Amino acid sequence: MDNRTCPYPTLGLYIAGDWIDDTGNGVIPVLDPATETRIGLLPKATARHLDMLLDAAANASAAWGRMPVQERAAFLCAAADLLRARSDAIAAVVTLEQGKPLAEARSEVLRSADLIEWNADAAVALFESEGTRIDGGNAISLVPVGPVAAFTPWNVPVLSPARKISMALAAGCTCILKPAEETPGSAVELIRAFADAGLPAGVLGLALGDPAFISDHLIRSSVIRKVTFTGSVPVGKHLAALAGSVMKPVTMELGGHNPVLVLQDADIEKVAKASALGKFRNAGQICTSPTRFYVHTSKFDDFVEAFAAETARLQVGNGFDPENHVGPVASERRLHAIETLVSDTLGKGATLVTGGARLGSTGYFYAPTILTGVDGESAFMRDEPFGPVAGVFSFETVAEGLALCNQSSLGLAAYVFAASDIDANKAAAGMDSGIVGINSFSVSRPDLPFGGVKDSGYGREGGVEGLKAFLVTKVVAR
Ligand code: NAD
Repeated sequence: MDNRTCPYPTLGLYIAGDWIDDTGNGVIPVLDPATETRIGLLPKATARHLDMLLDAAANASAAWGRMPVQERAAFLCAAADLLRARSDAIAAVVTLEQGKPLAEARSEVLRSADLIEWNADAAVALFESEGTRIDGGNAISLVPVGPVAAFTPWNVPVLSPARKISMALAAGCTCILKPAEETPGSAVELIRAFADAGLPAGVLGLALGDPAFISDHLIRSSVIRKVTFTGSVPVGKHLAALAGSVMKPVTMELGGHNPVLVLQDADIEKVAKASALGKFRNAGQICTSPTRFYVHTSKFDDFVEAFAAETARLQVGNGFDPENHVGPVASERRLHAIETLVSDTLGKGATLVTGGARLGSTGYFYAPTILTGVDGESAFMRDEPFGPVAGVFSFETVAEGLALCNQSSLGLAAYVFAASDIDANKAAAGMDSGIVGINSFSVSRPDLPFGGVKDSGYGREGGVEGLKAFLVTKVVAR
């Protein structure tokens, strides 16, 4: 299948078990980032549609929350099975609207199915072990927090909604999803899997349209009892402040400017290989993507040379072509942001090792880029690159390296590459981040709590901690 033959779903809101594809309120075009052609029209919700979504979430809430967790889990597992069965078709939708290579998209769909199942099983285990405990005649129970508003980004357009929806639903909460405007087709396919799994009407809703209008309306509503957002720091701060003003708990999974500390004894060839794959996967548009590489001075030149050589092997192009390893960036806005960041950083004296330019004139392709000699005042240091751009720096002592790693206002992921386990663990302990990967860039798994510190947000998704964020402790005292 290629992007000329891939069927793209009709985009619609999903309200109380019905699809609404004409809202009478205008549309937002959805583009294929590889060709810049229009592939769909996203209908924009009105206040009336949002109120219908809220009513449906409120009406379904009590029965869903009271349903035995094993029955809720069965719906989730049925949806996961449907995702697996449809993984080829859904992957094609992801590649068409987001750009990532088809194999990467298929892996995202399958990982989403695994994650949904993990949350279903973990919720059963959690309620069985900690659901209610009796203490001296008093009952202490975990109860669902209530209807959830979930806002998700375009970079993992199936995985991020799948994670939020499955945690909320498994915990016993109803959920309204607002996906990114760039990638609504993936969300429609995900919701369809839950609907076809027989989920009761109103348990899950889909809102499409103007993001600021929707988030404002949903968060202010007394129906919504929890807000979960993944996206950029400025939007996250805005939504956290709004939620705070109406006393709603929030989970904020924001960006990262993720450092990599390469110690003196690390195997440079191996690190360079892993770095090229880890850095440029999804065109660098992953919140845990490594961005700042700090390499011991004695290995700096070898690393830069090997990293550039491995990067040169990566072929950039349309994600439907199996030869290509790196697709376009997701939107014209992202392309422009990367171009501005690189030109500012080069203007402040950085050296271009490879890349540094848009590729072609159609499609949002940008060459995998490596910079050295980056000035501390440049845009690269100030802004999260969130694209195919890496900076390489050197350090003398581990203490100096850690200080450089920790200088960012963000603190999502960090990485340590070292031969010695003891040295790696010591360095990991010194990283000011929510997650540290040792000798690996794979840090996101269903069973591991995921989230950051500082401007990268608060709260955790994944693991039992993720489920507990959708539960409150209720006491019945005697
Ligand atoms: P952006 O801030 O322009 O964000 C656009 C996205 O945020 C849109 O998809 C929109 O749906 C949503 N949004 C915007 N205003 C909103 C509002 N008021 N309420 C609710 N949602 C709103 O950023 P961009 O250029 O599309 O993406 C780049 C930045 O986004 C990066 O800097 C990166 O940090 C961040 N990002 C982070 C993740 C992550 O996994 N943490 C994922 C994607 C993007």
